[in-house]
Amino acid sequence: MRRLFILLGLFMLCLQLKANLDIRIEGDTFILPETDISGIPYVGINDMHPIFHSICKQDRIDHRLYLHTYGETFIFMEGSSYYNFKLDSYNMHFPIQRIKDQYYVPSIFVRENLPLHFPKDMVFKSGQLQLSKPVNRNVKTIVLDPGHGGKDPGAVGRKLKAQEKEVNLGVTLKLKRMLEQELGLNVLMTRSDDRFVSLGDRTKFANDRRGDLFVSIHTNASRDPKSKGSETYYLATAMTSDARAVEALENQVVDLYEGGADARSKYDDLDFILSDLSQTEHLESSNELASNIQQNLVAGSGFYDRGVKQANFYVLRGAFMPSVLVELGFISNPEEEKLLVNDEYQERLARTIFEGIKRFKYRYDRIRNT
Ligand SMILES: [Zn+2]
Repeated sequence: MRRLFILLGLFMLCLQLKANLDIRIEGDTFILPETDISGIPYVGINDMHPIFHSICKQDRIDHRLYLHTYGETFIFMEGSSYYNFKLDSYNMHFPIQRIKDQYYVPSIFVRENLPLHFPKDMVFKSGQLQLSKPVNRNVKTIVLDPGHGGKDPGAVGRKLKAQEKEVNLGVTLKLKRMLEQELGLNVLMTRSDDRFVSLGDRTKFANDRRGDLFVSIHTNASRDPKSKGSETYYLATAMTSDARAVEALENQVVDLYEGGADARSKYDDLDFILSDLSQTEHLESSNELASNIQQNLVAGSGFYDRGVKQANFYVLRGAFMPSVLVELGFISNPEEEKLLVNDEYQERLARTIFEGIKRFKYRYDRIRNT
């Protein structure tokens, strides 16, 4: 009986709906077409993009749909009427539908759920959805993170006793200048001189200053003086044993300079679900940024290509933006050490990372603005 009432209620609701959704954005009116699917009004997700400046991506493995709009992410499951938003689950009463390659959400999601989630930006009144202008989410601010510093020298070279912290800072300062002068980006540095900054403070800085990208710059080290080449990482928990070794190397600052076990438990206690989710959302972008940097780094430096890898770096774990960690080359390899301390070579390395970021930015900005 109760079921009947619910069905009747939903039926009445449907009768009140029009065939199109009127949307008003600061004076301009847009029409979002509705499609009838088994008697229920739906809107095509692709039709939403130009109005909401949204983008949608599907996870190839679990088929979840990620809809990014107004700086937030909705996660839908094909065939389910539930979706996730900021760690909570919501019901829109009718499932996501797919017709050919196009996905559809029930219109009720646009009329009721969106205004509920964005009360400051959206209101549904007099049969019309009124929106504030979606914020331009192009890459504008980039946080550069020269690894180590101050009491933490990082890895030290065998032959010239070069210190990693100096190489990292040298390359990063050059990269900063290029990004500012040639792309007009707002570049923030976690350190601009020889000082110690904890790993947690580095990501906190990036989050607080609302960076759009986070790029951490390091040089690698190995017991084997013949180890060589460049690699670029993005955050993940599953990885190879080689990646695990580099992870241990970059995370050891916590043991050596931040108070050991106590500090480590602080990082391990970081809200895992939250940091996991923040990086899940950006995983694809982080992977793409890492690939663009790695390709250019290898092509431009002539260093051996160790590839794009995944590891669980503390410094990437808390970042709420696409984040990568670059290992320029091996300071423990005497030949690479010689190049890494060379000013002209540092300029060349900075240029290759610049090209990688530039390529990523062009693509990223485009998909967010179409
Ligand atoms: Zn390092």
